[in-house]
Amino acid sequence: MQHGSDILIIGGGVVGLTTAFRLAGQGVSVTVVDRQRVGSEASWAGAGMLPPGNSVTAATPDARLRSWSYDMWDTFSAELRELSGIDNGYRKCGAVEVGTDDATVESQIKQWQTEGLDCDTLDRGMLERYVPGLHPQFQRGAFLPEFAQVRNPRHLKALTAACQSLGVEILECVDCLSICAKGSAVEVTSPSRHFGADRVCLTAGAWTGQLMKSLGVGLPVSPVRGQIAQLRVNQLPFSCVIEQGRRYMVPRADGLILVGSTEEHAGFEKRNTSEGISGLLAFAQSIVPELRSAEVVRCWAGLRPGSPDELPFLGPVPGYDNVFVGAGHYRSGLQMSPATATVLADLMLGRAPAISLDGLDLTRTTRPSAV
Ligand SMILES: Cc1cc2nc3c(=O)[nH]c(=O)nc-3n(C[C@H](O)[C@H](O)[C@H](O)COP(=O)(O)OP(=O)(O)OC[C@H]3O[C@@H](n4cnc5c(N)ncnc54)[C@H](O)[C@@H]3O)c2cc1C
Repeated sequence: MQHGSDILIIGGGVVGLTTAFRLAGQGVSVTVVDRQRVGSEASWAGAGMLPPGNSVTAATPDARLRSWSYDMWDTFSAELRELSGIDNGYRKCGAVEVGTDDATVESQIKQWQTEGLDCDTLDRGMLERYVPGLHPQFQRGAFLPEFAQVRNPRHLKALTAACQSLGVEILECVDCLSICAKGSAVEVTSPSRHFGADRVCLTAGAWTGQLMKSLGVGLPVSPVRGQIAQLRVNQLPFSCVIEQGRRYMVPRADGLILVGSTEEHAGFEKRNTSEGISGLLAFAQSIVPELRSAEVVRCWAGLRPGSPDELPFLGPVPGYDNVFVGAGHYRSGLQMSPATATVLADLMLGRAPAISLDGLDLTRTTRPSAV
């Protein structure tokens, strides 16, 4: 059976689906193919934190993608709600960063201020206003009022429905997809189908490196496991995100709190471990001791698409005319998905992206800094 579309997207996580949404919104015929149900891997498992940025001062590839995406989240969420009838839970909730020593907090504040972000320094009294039950070991902190969040499973449902309403063809549970180089182009087939498309975009998250092997191109994207424990309380003790370094708690409006996350190089083993979950629960209690009595609702794990410099790879695959990649977003795939998708759509439609892709292109894998 022959399947035809202008653009074939392989991998229906948040990166692939948002790219499909952007393309379909411009009248392009798009097919998304996934070997499972779309939106069931890292994009589902994430915590949905959307840190702010400042697109005027953004000077690094990370800051450019984050800030441009941040500027889009509000309108993007409204667009999805309009098309799908589903509220993705996007809201500005603010975030408090706590640290046990002044130096850590000061250096974080300095970094935010250098980026031109709105942030306030908090003494113990102010900290208690945001987090009433905060452990007394924390005397200083910082508040980022523009920090936002989205509920991943709801966002993916809204995104999938919005894509379908724009005519995107979504093919799920297509196993044994094979990608074969035919000169400088590629052909994609499954045991029952031949996918004819002018351009192919690989957005297979942590599995993108594996897919690229069949093209003879190495891409250092590998899985980094993240575990999450979900708690429930009768009344939320705080309504903002709390962060301490790379660990965090994300409160949802209905009394759930996500406690995350581990960063483990455990291959493609997506499971919870006793050590991982006990560490997360201890972390939660060390920040807000009353969480000792919270109900543990469930735990899960996801595989982040890790890259050596923690930045995504965006752009054409060297040596091929019709293959593009959007992968390796590591801890930031949700937050960066709106700008990522816009950039990928522009590249595939032969337009210059609105932001510089310096530091995000695939050729940087050969640079010593990325190794
Ligand atoms: C615990 C945890 C917390 C996180 N918290 C945040 C956060 O707060 N904010 C944030 O921005 N990011 C967060 N992240 C990171 C974010 O979730 C990822 O960066 C993002 O989801 C990556 O999206 P993706 O579309 O590239 O990959 P995925 O969501 O993994 O999607 C890849 C898709 O490709 C499909 N696929 C794979 N191989 C094939 C194949 N051979 N053929 C067809 N399909 C294939 C898979 O089935 C899957 O559907 C978190 C991640 C984890 C695990």
